[in-house]
Parts: sequence; C-alpha cells; structure tokens
Amino acid sequence: MDFTTRNKIIKNALCKVYNKKDVTVRGDRGTAIGWVKIKVMLDKPEGCACNIVEEAHMFGDKSTYKYRALLNPLDYRSGNYCPKCKEVYEKQSKIVRNTINNSGAFFTHYTSDDGYNTEHREEITEVEVRT
Ligand SMILES: [Zn+2]
Repeated sequence: MDFTTRNKIIKNALCKVYNKKDVTVRGDRGTAIGWVKIKVMLDKPEGCACNIVEEAHMFGDKSTYKYRALLNPLDYRSGNYCPKCKEVYEKQSKIVRNTINNSGAFFTHYTSDDGYNTEHREEITEVEVRT
C-alpha cells in the first residue's frame, strides 16, 4: 500500500460518515513523505453561542470579549467553543478517530527524542466546527 492509496482509504472512510466537501486528506511530499493531514469540518449546531459577545470582568475592567475567547484562551481548539459546539466537537472527534483507526489504513511512525523513545503516528488530524 503506497501513501496515495492509504490517503484515499482514509478519505473514503471519512466520506461515508461526513460530506465529501467537509473532509480534506492531504499527504505530504518530500522530506515529510508519509505524513498525512486530515481535516474534518462540522456544521455549527443549533443554539451555538460562540459569537455571543459578553461582558468580561476578568481583569477588573469591562472590556468586551467574544464568548469563545473567554472559555479557555490556552486551548484554542475545544476550549474556544461554546458548550454546544464543544459537545459536538468532542463527540465527533471520537467518531473521526475511530473511523480513521478502523479504515484499514496503515500509518508510518517515528520515534521522538524525548528520552523514552515514544512512538508517534505520522498523522495530523483536525476537527473544526464552523462557528
Ligand atoms: Zn458554538
């Protein structure tokens, strides 16, 4: 199985669960060959409050921040979503993960230099809610 075939297998598996337009599977070339970047976009759930502007009193002033910036500025993915989007994000992230793991695609691995030789899969997967 070459990388192109592997990437197609992942894409096909995800397209059975999600709309084709919402799934991006891109293989890297050159020195990063073997790596695959996977992205799944999710529709905004009903009742999404991500863009509700609320008053913030974090620093004692009355500056206005967007809701999503308030939840957890450090965790820019799940933390920046309103509770509804966070729920969708967490649920769908697991489904994406399982779909990829059960797709039959192989993955190449590299060993990190962390002193424990931890193995990592050459895969970057992002799940994002359109807010
Ligand atoms: Zn939201």
